[in-house]
Amino acid sequence: MNTSHFDENKREANKTYNVSDLPPSKIQYLRKLKSKDFENIREKYNEKFDKFNYSSNAKCTQKSNEFRENGNKFFAEKQFEDALRMYSNAVVYANLDDIELSVSFANRSAALFQLQRYKECLRDIEYALNFKCPSNVKEKVLKRKQSCIDKIQTNDSRSKAKMREMKRNESIYGVADCINVFQRTISSERGLKANRDIERGELLAIQAPFASVLTPSRYKLNCYNCLRAIPKNRPFPCKKCVQVCFCSLTCCEKAWSEFHQYECCYLELLNFSSTFHLQPRLALRILFKARLDAVLDEFFDRSADLDYSKLNFKVINSLMDHSDKCPDFTPAINLMLLFLSRIFPQLNSDKIALYGCVLLKLIQQIHINGKYIYSRELKTVPGCDQCEVIQDIKIGCALYQSYSLINHSCDPNSLSFMFDGHILYLKALREIKKDEEIFVCYGANSKWQTTSERKAFLEQYYFFDCKCIACEEDAQPLSKSLLCPLCNGPAIFDKLVKCLSCKSLDHFDAKSILNEVEKLEKDIISFDDTIARDLKEAIDSLTRSEQKLLKFVHKSNKILGEVKNKLSLCYQKVNDLELAIKYNEEYLKIVEIEFTNDYIHVFNVRLRLCEKQIKLLQSNCDESLKSTIHKSCIDNLKALKSFLTNNVFPETERSIVDVNRL
Ligand SMILES: [Zn+2]
Ligand SMILES: [Zn+2]
Ligand SMILES: [Zn+2]
Ligand SMILES: [Zn+2]
Ligand SMILES: [Zn+2]
Repeated sequence: MNTSHFDENKREANKTYNVSDLPPSKIQYLRKLKSKDFENIREKYNEKFDKFNYSSNAKCTQKSNEFRENGNKFFAEKQFEDALRMYSNAVVYANLDDIELSVSFANRSAALFQLQRYKECLRDIEYALNFKCPSNVKEKVLKRKQSCIDKIQTNDSRSKAKMREMKRNESIYGVADCINVFQRTISSERGLKANRDIERGELLAIQAPFASVLTPSRYKLNCYNCLRAIPKNRPFPCKKCVQVCFCSLTCCEKAWSEFHQYECCYLELLNFSSTFHLQPRLALRILFKARLDAVLDEFFDRSADLDYSKLNFKVINSLMDHSDKCPDFTPAINLMLLFLSRIFPQLNSDKIALYGCVLLKLIQQIHINGKYIYSRELKTVPGCDQCEVIQDIKIGCALYQSYSLINHSCDPNSLSFMFDGHILYLKALREIKKDEEIFVCYGANSKWQTTSERKAFLEQYYFFDCKCIACEEDAQPLSKSLLCPLCNGPAIFDKLVKCLSCKSLDHFDAKSILNEVEKLEKDIISFDDTIARDLKEAIDSLTRSEQKLLKFVHKSNKILGEVKNKLSLCYQKVNDLELAIKYNEEYLKIVEIEFTNDYIHVFNVRLRLCEKQIKLLQSNCDESLKSTIHKSCIDNLKALKSFLTNNVFPETERSIVDVNRL
């Protein structure tokens, strides 16, 4: 934001936006913002803003030097990992204008060289040369640069895994060329649809969000700009603060010019305030990214022509907001407006109030269209230090432009996933025919929720009555089915009892059965194999629960799966691998019905089965048993590898799960 824009704005201060175009709820809001309410907030928070201005958050040459000296000690003792950690702290605390920054980068490059992280070493050398660099340091790093290049050339003859590709659509940002935007003429509702037949597993979208925010607890672990994991102990620092870090100079500069320059010194206050949780932060970031000086014109621009081909605020502004049904966000917005009025004192109160309207609409849009960002990470299984599974960890939230155009179905034909910072991937869950609409699941799915549960969820969080095919056909989840006493098929209790197989209605007393099942479920879930003292006794009691359950529930019921999972764990602990494998296999069959192979949960259950099978194959046991297990193990390995190549691309695959370990 340069000052000339503001002079212009001042001249145009009285330019009237057509406020009457706004829905009544927002005009009311505008009045509220100009009232006493805002003045009260201003009084309450101004003091805090003064106090928080870079208190403990600033660069410090002394600290930087201390860290570097500690790093040197570790380096001399050949403890390069520790040296790297110290040098990274030195980098983070060094002032941008001092030679300390360059020297710290140079030292870190030496540690990286010793750790044989040559490419990262080269980057740090570039950074060292990029900032104020003393001539003796320059000489040293240039020498190191040459040895680095030599090492990389000799080491890097291995062929690189090929990235999966998607043919991009020129006219819609971040989606494949097999997808079009359509608009229904009567309701003017939009959506995406296939313009040709699509195969199962095809990539339908790869896109960066319009804006994203990182959860504060991840500031040291992920890039503040792109949310990628920071390479181990090698952050790139912020220009001014020591709180956030970046994956690269590029991300640092991008974040600084787009939004971080405004918030850097107030970050502690923004994180301190519980009012200011992720969604309001995201709204504010969208405002900055859309450029404050342009956003009001675009906000009030009612012309219908939208350019879907690139990220732009007009498309974001056209997203659904359900303004009258969202909760009250006034406290958060007041705080953001105070923040705006502090960083841009030249803005008059009329303008500030208009930004309030933009922010209100944005938060309402985020409420419906926003998406959490997950990081795919290896985590050890509780109670077992050997097994690792992949988990999706929530690390922030974002608003995606083209993705937000996709409508919901309780039986979706596509699934989104993330593994590479805030980049969103979307793949086809099954074959999609030409002209079929693309659907994602907003959190209500017929595979694990009954029709009433789904409708209630969507009504509460998304404010609509679901009319998807699954709901119209009353599709019910096998994972919740009871046993039909007439045909032994799956029967669902959803307001009334209905057998999905023989179609009998209300033919048994489901309520009393569900009571029994609930009691058993509580016992099973609360059962903790890590503290069970007598495993033999535990196995007996779990087996009794399993037998009882079999009288009440269908074989695809997920509670039955849970008891089989626990039994598998117990048998593994008493070293009965054969039974551990049997129960793990039965558990896998049940989760496959609930989730299908595209979900990470199924991958994890299969991964643990594979580990047990390999353990058994390495032991001395019956040869005929071995050959059966061997066959099944090979199939499982194939399924695991195919999941990895379809959901995590080859370059990052190895860092997530070392398949060779198996
Ligand atoms: Zn980054
Ligand atoms: Zn900063
Ligand atoms: Zn284990
Ligand atoms: Zn539905
Ligand atoms: Zn039946």
